[in-house]
Amino acid sequence: MRIEESTKLDFKDVLIRPKRSTLDSRKNVDIRREFTFKWSGKAYHGVPIIAANMDGVGTFAMARAFAEDGNGLSVALHKHYPLKDLQKFYDKAGHASVWYSIGMVKADEEKLDEFMKAGHHPDKVCIDVANGYSEHFVTFVKKIRDKYPELTIMAGNVVTGEMVEELILAGVDVVKVGIGPGSVCTTRKMTGVGYPQLSAIIECADAAHGLGGLICGDGGCTVPGDIAKAFAAGADFVMLGGMLAGHDESEQKVVKDGGQKYLQFYGMSSSTAMTKHKGGVAEYRASEGKTVKVPYRGPVEASLQDILGGLRSTCTYVGARRLKELSKRTTFIRVSQQLNTIFGNE
Ligand code: 5GP
Repeated sequence: MRIEESTKLDFKDVLIRPKRSTLDSRKNVDIRREFTFKWSGKAYHGVPIIAANMDGVGTFAMARAFAEDGNGLSVALHKHYPLKDLQKFYDKAGHASVWYSIGMVKADEEKLDEFMKAGHHPDKVCIDVANGYSEHFVTFVKKIRDKYPELTIMAGNVVTGEMVEELILAGVDVVKVGIGPGSVCTTRKMTGVGYPQLSAIIECADAAHGLGGLICGDGGCTVPGDIAKAFAAGADFVMLGGMLAGHDESEQKVVKDGGQKYLQFYGMSSSTAMTKHKGGVAEYRASEGKTVKVPYRGPVEASLQDILGGLRSTCTYVGARRLKELSKRTTFIRVSQQLNTIFGNE
C-alpha cells in the first residue's frame, strides 16, 4: 500500500484569480473552439460543451434545442434509442453536433456496424464505460478505430495520465475524464474509488495534449463557474448531466408533488436505469447511481444563456479574448470557502 501525499483538488477547492485586461465587454469574447481531431482528422468548431449520454439529458429534443441555439454545443445521445429512430433523426437533423454512444457490449457494437452501413451514419461516437481501466476496453477501442478510421472517437472514463496516453495511442481522439464526481453517481460511496475532478482534468489534459489528443471533463459541474474552472484547468470539452436535467427537452414525464413540478433524474447505472433498460440489476454488480427528483426548469434555452454568459464573463475577468486562452491566463487560488450561503445555497 502507498499513500500519494500531494494534494488533489476539486472545483470547490479553488477560485480563479482575476487579471488586468483590455477587454471591455463580454460580447467580445469568443467561447467557441476549433480542433482538428488527432485520428479522424475531422475539423470541429463550436462551444465545446456536451450534454451527457444519459436519459433525460442526451436526447433528440436536446440536440434540436442546441441546433436552434446556434452556439454549436453538442449532445451525446443516450444508448437506448432504437436504430430506426436514430436513422430517421440523423437523416433529418444531420449529425454535426451529435455523438452516438455505445458501450462495450456485443449488441452495441452490432448496432453501430449496422448504423455505419446506413445512408446517414454517425461521424462521432462516444464509447462509454464506467471503468476505462480494463485491457479489454483498450482492445475494444482499437478494434473500433481499425474498423472505422474516419470516425471521431471519444472514450472513457479514466482519471490518470498514463491511461489517457494508452487510450490516445489506441486511437481515441477525445478521452473522457471523471470517475465518481457525477451528480447522480455513487461510485465513490460504493467502491471508495475516485479522483478529485479538477486535478484529474489538470493531469489528464497535460498527458493528452503532449500526444496531440484532447480530453473531455465529465461530471461534477454544479454551477456555471465549475464549467469555467474545468476549461481553465485544461479541459477541451466539458460534459454536463445534472446541470441540463429537468428541462422540457428531457423527454421525461413531469410529475406534480405538493404544487411543485418535478422530473425524475437517474444515473445510467442506477437501479432505475437498469430496471428500465435491462429488466433489473444484474446479480454480480451493485447499482452505482442514484435516482433523484429535480425541479422542472422549463426550456433549456434559459439555462444555456446562464451557462454561456457565465463562461464569457469568466473570460473577461482574466482577459481571455477566446476560450482557448482561458487556461493560459488562469491562476487558481486555493480557498476554504466558495459561496456566501446566508440566504441559502442558490
Ligand atoms: P454530472 O454532470 O451530472 O455531475 O455528471 C454527469 C456524468 O455522470 C455522466 O456523463 C457520466 O459520466 C456520469 N454518470 C451518469 N450516470 C452514472 C451512474 O449511474 N453512475 C456513475 N458512477 N456515473 C454516472
